[in-house]
Amino acid sequence: MFAVVTILGQTLDVRDDPAGLAKLFLYIFILAIIIGFIYGKNNSRPWCRYYCPIGKILGVVSRLGIIDFRANKGVPPLPKDQRYYVEGRLCPTDYNLPYKTSTNNCIACGACAYGKKKAGMGIYRRKPGEEVQDILNRRPNWSEVIFVLFSPGLSAGGFLWLILHQYQQYRDTIGGWFLNENIMWIFHRAPSWISSQRWDQHYNWLDVSLIAIYMLSYSLVIGLISAILISLAALLVRTNTMSFQKTFILLTYQYTPVAILSIIIGLCGKFFEVMNHDFGMSLTIAAGIKFFMLGVSMLWTLMLAWKVIKKINNKHGLMTLMGFGIILINVGVILYMWWPAIFGHVYMSEVEQIRKHIIVPR
Ligand code: SF4
Repeated sequence: MFAVVTILGQTLDVRDDPAGLAKLFLYIFILAIIIGFIYGKNNSRPWCRYYCPIGKILGVVSRLGIIDFRANKGVPPLPKDQRYYVEGRLCPTDYNLPYKTSTNNCIACGACAYGKKKAGMGIYRRKPGEEVQDILNRRPNWSEVIFVLFSPGLSAGGFLWLILHQYQQYRDTIGGWFLNENIMWIFHRAPSWISSQRWDQHYNWLDVSLIAIYMLSYSLVIGLISAILISLAALLVRTNTMSFQKTFILLTYQYTPVAILSIIIGLCGKFFEVMNHDFGMSLTIAAGIKFFMLGVSMLWTLMLAWKVIKKINNKHGLMTLMGFGIILINVGVILYMWWPAIFGHVYMSEVEQIRKHIIVPR
């Protein structure tokens, strides 16, 4: 859902086309109603738990958060005959409350702690990042691991196709090939339910498919580089007491701050554009704020990674340092990917600039 909504957000041009934004909102709204109608029981919220892309982002963020709803008398181990989630009880996202150890599906509604039917739960404060440090005991899952690995590339791809000249070059080359082969359907307008069609902008099939391929490629390349480097670090720092898979999962979760900030920077691109156009915020200040946010998230990731690496392997100093060095390189790769999106400006071809009356043809 996250990939589909992020890509549709680009092909519908939700940043600049209000009709596109309305369409995307409508699709999500209709889908949420259908899913709720089919699977919802006793006020439970299947959409929030299983499908909502924002829910996924918030779920991963909440693992870093300082608020935890948990059993007042401590969380007992889950008995064999009990399930971690049970449908249609007090919790709208189906937690089996006495055994709740994670926050990723908690929407912090407070029903378990403050509703009429309390469930012996309370709100507790904890250190930021505490849950990801202890993730192996907090029900980690592969969908979050994949999300943390692949979402930064996807978000950056949604930004970079507008900024890098490289995208226009691919478009010219691939479009030229279709022209030479006399394949013309690719230049027909794409349907308006998946693409932006305004008086001054018509995305064709070439645009829609290239934007999707470009974003997915970024996601794959950056995600695979990260997966390979984290695997190398895991091989270096793991000990006999922890399997490779567990070490990999533990290290990947420490990238949560970078992954989330990547998404936030992608989402708030338009905000800074408006601040610049309408409120006169200089582009240098906007770039500085984005750089600061990304920098803090990277430092946070490095700090978390350093702590878990030390916890996993405190005996072999060299291995610890090498493992951390690899994580550092990986964070550097993510920074390199984001650099043009933070400091670059939207690339506009000469034709586009003439069309928008920004330059006068010679
Ligand atoms: S705060 Fe709401 S969503 Fe979270 S555990 Fe309690 S009832 Fe469930």
